[in-house]
Amino acid sequence: MTLHDIFRATRAKFDLPEGVVYLDGNSLGPLPRDAADRVARMMTEEWGGLLIRGWNTAGWMEMPRRVGDRIGRLIGAPEGTVVMGDTLSIKVYQALASALELRPERKVVLSDSGNFPTDLYMAQGLIASLGRGHRLKVVAPEEVEDAIDENVAVTLLTEVDYRTGRLHDMKRLTRRAHAAGALTIWDLAHSAGALPVDVTAAGADFAVGCTYKYLNGGPGAPAFIHVAPELAGSVRPALSGWLGHEAPFAFDPDYRPGAGIDRMRVGTPPIIALAALDAALDTWEGVDMADIRRASIELSELFIAEVERRCPELAFASPREPERRGSQVSFLHPEGYAIMQALIAGGVIGDFRAPDAMRFGFTPLYIGHDDVIAAASILERILREGSWDRPEFKTRSKVT
Ligand SMILES: *Cc1c(COP(=O)(O)O)cnc(C)c1O
Repeated sequence: MTLHDIFRATRAKFDLPEGVVYLDGNSLGPLPRDAADRVARMMTEEWGGLLIRGWNTAGWMEMPRRVGDRIGRLIGAPEGTVVMGDTLSIKVYQALASALELRPERKVVLSDSGNFPTDLYMAQGLIASLGRGHRLKVVAPEEVEDAIDENVAVTLLTEVDYRTGRLHDMKRLTRRAHAAGALTIWDLAHSAGALPVDVTAAGADFAVGCTYKYLNGGPGAPAFIHVAPELAGSVRPALSGWLGHEAPFAFDPDYRPGAGIDRMRVGTPPIIALAALDAALDTWEGVDMADIRRASIELSELFIAEVERRCPELAFASPREPERRGSQVSFLHPEGYAIMQALIAGGVIGDFRAPDAMRFGFTPLYIGHDDVIAAASILERILREGSWDRPEFKTRSKVT
């Protein structure tokens, strides 16, 4: 079977509006057809019919672990080492707090300037709350490797840069961190579902990610956290909520952490959102991440070639070599925001990241060659006609 055949079948599983080319699955994945039914059934049959009994009889309480295992299969994490809940910002905080306690004598959290701001903000907030003289050191992405020394307690890195798509070498940097005695936290926000990831082979200590981007779990879908099995039983959870307790329903006044990854649970899991995500994960059954990678490289290479040929005024801003990119590419233009709004009005949905990056995500599950050609040709027309140069395309919305 060709890639084309494989992905024609997955495309049919998504409910995309007619006439839209969706190149923003790196920000919010589209609706899987089954998710709407699944959520409706969960609401009426389980919530409506079972009421509180659903926690026991519909498996709600185990859902964060069961769905976590499904994510685990996409990122190379063994059974029982991934749990769902909260948002990615919270999971970054949990991982970082645990890591810093494992290296009490070290004071540096190392990150890079390509990291998504919330990861840096959470680190700043945690450091201030701890008040123990930690420091967040932020270097350029290409300087990370040399900045790993024996002062670094933990590296906090996002594998794929949200603006440019630049891909870190997770295995190499993890090896380097371990050699210096540091721990690693890998943020897989733009990796999970975008390319093959193997946290076990890389030796990652902690991995976190969201599920509303390439995993199509829906807006605000719960995040995941993975802790390496050899650490999971010894890390102290900073957010010691009752569902991470060894025996939540003993209602013990004193906290005792649950076994392994269970201690990374905090409070009551979002069952409706987990039902949508669980349905979304069905679209990955039988899909080989190596095929996803091959197809996403084909699509992005085609897009780059078409845009560079048709739109010479745009500056390509992602790594040239496809092996050094995730599944998204960016082009720069000083009027990028307005051009992107005109493009969206023309039916091609990408997004914009300040100050000047137009971002396009390639998700073979539902994007094909025809979409790529259509997107490039609409972009070319907007630039040639200057139709982006209108006031309505220049007013910034809250979400860009
Ligand atoms: C999308 C993204 C986030 C978002 O965090 P939320 O808490 O889910 O809003 C965090 N980190 C990275 C690297 C991201 O790409």
